[in-house]
Formats: sequence, structure tokens, C-alpha cells
Amino acid sequence: RASRLLHPQNTVIKTPHSEIGGPDLTLMAGPDAIESPEHVLAMGQAAKAAGATILRGGAFKPRTSPYSYQGSGEAGLKALRMAADQLEMDVVTEIMDSADLALIDPYTDIFQVGTRNMQNFALLKALGRQTKPVLLKRGMSASIDDFLNAAEYILAGGNQAVILMERGIRTFDHHYTRNTFDVGAIPVLKRLTHLPILADSSHATGDRRLVTPVALAAVAAGAQGLMTELHDHPANALVDGAQAITPATYQTLTRQAVAIHQVV
Ligand code: PEP
Repeated sequence: RASRLLHPQNTVIKTPHSEIGGPDLTLMAGPDAIESPEHVLAMGQAAKAAGATILRGGAFKPRTSPYSYQGSGEAGLKALRMAADQLEMDVVTEIMDSADLALIDPYTDIFQVGTRNMQNFALLKALGRQTKPVLLKRGMSASIDDFLNAAEYILAGGNQAVILMERGIRTFDHHYTRNTFDVGAIPVLKRLTHLPILADSSHATGDRRLVTPVALAAVAAGAQGLMTELHDHPANALVDGAQAITPATYQTLTRQAVAIHQVV
């Protein structure tokens, strides 16, 4: 069960190179979409240099329009895994369909469920039946109780390694912020559940100028880790360049975030 009443101790999820929910801030970073083997390796190097232990990259992209770039599929997964192995990092990548579980499994350490699939119960049940950790992002219109019930679907199947991620919810201003980062959800979730709570300030804001301040606010509110999108040439990114920060900016973000995490 997700409830802290039944499980007072914080859950710590161990992957080969990370302890999510442990004493250190967990840093996951990388490109939105895996663009090429060289690019994902370069972004992984930048992520690792700034302290990240988990390399992110999407190979199956949940795009709002079917005519937008849909991702590089298995070729992308291979590139992501090779980069992470070379850098001694863990992999997190999104799964959108339970039918892809066997395909993605050999390439990833953590399965990511995106905001659009938070209530894809068939997918959650399938992930509950396997043992790798699941990073569950909050649905963009999900209440906190909806979010915890989605986590419960994975836990109920037997998989206790669930990581929660706040990534912003839909409100009414889409001009300045793509979503509204629900900073209050972090202390609420920490009170209600023993599962680790992380934050994605890239998708929460959709604007690289907001990625660092919102990440720092999340850590100040108690987030146990951050997901951040990196790109060396954001204007050329295949997906979501507007929210990608450069490796140099990421260095500053992580330095500040780690300092804040030490005092909260
Ligand atoms: C992502 O992390 O690549 C992504 C699509 O995130 P979200 O599901 O939060 O939109």
C-alpha cells in the first residue's frame, strides 16, 4: 500500500547507480527524445558531469499530434542503453503500451509512465507484475488521490518500487507556463505516502527560463529528486526544445539544488 500509515518508513529504491528516496538528491537528466547515439552520449556526459546518476531519453514519444515526431523506437533504446553503460548511469525511459514491455525491458532500469498514461490501468497492472522500478508521473488533470490510486495499481500487483513524479497540472494560463507546477503536492504526498517524490520542472513549465527556479522550489518543498531535459542546441531539438536547458545551465541548477536539499 502507498499509505504512510501502514508503512511509516520512507521507501528507498535501489538501482545499479542510484538510491531513489535515499539521503542524496536523485538527479535524472538527458534529452527529451533520443536523437542519435552521439547526441544521447554527449547529453549523458553533461548530465553525469553535473551529478546525475540516471540518464533519461524517450524512444516512444506520447505526442499530442499524431503528425509530430513519434520517437526512434528500439534503435533509440539501444543508443540510450549504450550511452548509460559507457557512463555507468541508470536508464529511465517511457513505456506507453503494455505490449512494448518485453521490447523495452532489456534496455531500461526504470520504466517511466507519462502523464497521459497515469490512468492506463492495463499498463499499470502489467508494470505491477514485473519487478523493475516504475516512475509514475502525475496525470495533468489528476487529483492527489487519483495519483495515489494509480500508484496503488502497481503496488497491488506486487511491485513495491514506485517513484512518484509531480510534473505540473492543467490550469488556465497556457501562455506563460505550459502547466502549473503544484509545489504544495510535494509536502502533501510526503505526508500521505512513503514512496519517493520527485519533480520534473521541464514539463511543468515548458519554458527553459522557468526550469531552474521551479526545480529549486520543488527541492525546497522536499522533492527527493529532479528530472531535467538537456540539449546542447535547444533550437534544434527534435522535441520540446523550448523547455530544454543547456549543460552549463544544468551545472548551476544541480549545484543550487544540492545545496538546498542539504538544508531541508
Ligand atoms: C517525458 O518525460 O518525456 C514526458 C513526455 O513527460 P510527461 O509525461 O510528464 O509529459
